[in-house]
Amino acid sequence: MSIQVVQGDITKRTVDVIVNAANSSLLGGGGVDGAIHRAGGKEILEECVKIRNQQGGCQVGEAVITTAGQLPASYVIHTVGPVWNGGVKEEDVHLKNCYRNTYLLANKYKVVSIAFPSISTGIYKFPKPLAAEIAVSETARYVETHLLENTIKKIEFICFDEENYSLYVERLKCYL
Ligand code: ADP
Repeated sequence: MSIQVVQGDITKRTVDVIVNAANSSLLGGGGVDGAIHRAGGKEILEECVKIRNQQGGCQVGEAVITTAGQLPASYVIHTVGPVWNGGVKEEDVHLKNCYRNTYLLANKYKVVSIAFPSISTGIYKFPKPLAAEIAVSETARYVETHLLENTIKKIEFICFDEENYSLYVERLKCYL
């Protein structure tokens, strides 16, 4: 199992799956969501619209999968992070669910490599230290509890800013 922290743009990663910090409409937005739709082209939005028509979008903490269109990745898993509300709306539980449901869906598609952005730490204002801790601890939990049936062998945490990069490196030290 390889786990790496990389500073950069997730749309450039050559992995089986990149994860999108989407919103519940699945119709695109700003931040990493906008970057993925811009770089991946219209096929991604077309599949998001289909899913939206079938199941009315995606709830906070849930995850759905589409093609990655023109991106180097094969799939995009769209998960909806919580908006930070002072910590009184079970935001931590919702963020844990994002990682958990994304890993379960990726495993169902026999994914080997996956890249995550730091979900909720942009427009949704989730505190970055707690978000990094959740990302790393939920990863450890997934790996430990799916030893036999896990297909995922390479995990990348893509940090757009230096603060997130340092936080992820620090958190990962506790597990390596
Ligand atoms: P949210 O609404 O879940 O907060 P954002 O897209 O605003 O989603 O931010 C989530 C994280 O993704 C932030 O840390 C932001 O800096 C980062 N980010 C924005 N663009 C990219 C990108 N192209 N690649 C990787 N991370 C990105």
